[in-house]
Amino acid sequence: MSLLKKERETLVEYGKKLIDTGLTVGTGGNISIYNRDSGYMAITPSGLEYHTITEDDIVIMDLNGHVIQGKWKPSSEYQMHSLVYQNREDVNAMVHTHAMYSTTISTLNIDLPAVDYLVAHSGGKNIRCAEYATYGTKKLAENALNAMEGRKAVLLANHGINVVGENMEEAFAITEQLEFCARLYWQAKAIGEPVILSDDEMEMMVDKFKHYGQAKKLQ
Ligand SMILES: [Zn+2]
Repeated sequence: MSLLKKERETLVEYGKKLIDTGLTVGTGGNISIYNRDSGYMAITPSGLEYHTITEDDIVIMDLNGHVIQGKWKPSSEYQMHSLVYQNREDVNAMVHTHAMYSTTISTLNIDLPAVDYLVAHSGGKNIRCAEYATYGTKKLAENALNAMEGRKAVLLANHGINVVGENMEEAFAITEQLEFCARLYWQAKAIGEPVILSDDEMEMMVDKFKHYGQAKKLQ
């Protein structure tokens, strides 16, 4: 019997979406969903094309790095995912991608500033950039977790981004918004110096977005 059937289905669906929306290319990036009741996470396998991945290809792991079910090696960044689920009770899904514009900004090793109010969706006035570490290492997992404190997104220096959410729908939506803001910043910098929204304005936006989700549910 295959474990975490619903999570497998969602990962297959969103893996395709990652490619179709241009948020990653080839086999770059990886996505996971944590099932808090069982303590297992479902994660995409290493090195398979997203459009060929089926539910059977998804790997089920515990948070200590053991494969519970699966015929492939898990994503090489599985530690980055499990460390987040061990430390963040507010999130159950994560997207790691090499999205072009966000990754471009990450090569400057700077925080992405508030060029647009949508930056506030990740929970703060900017998107912090985590210190560089080699891919697939515990060090990278730690740097990413630390720089994402209190937030739902983080740039990984010279590598890509991590975005988390209560569920995959939210993590994916914030990924799209982050990539949009990174592109805005890049384009604005090409023709001038963008005005950055004030800390006060961004605090208000963060607060507004906190209630936005609830308002949607009430409708
Ligand atoms: Zn990566």
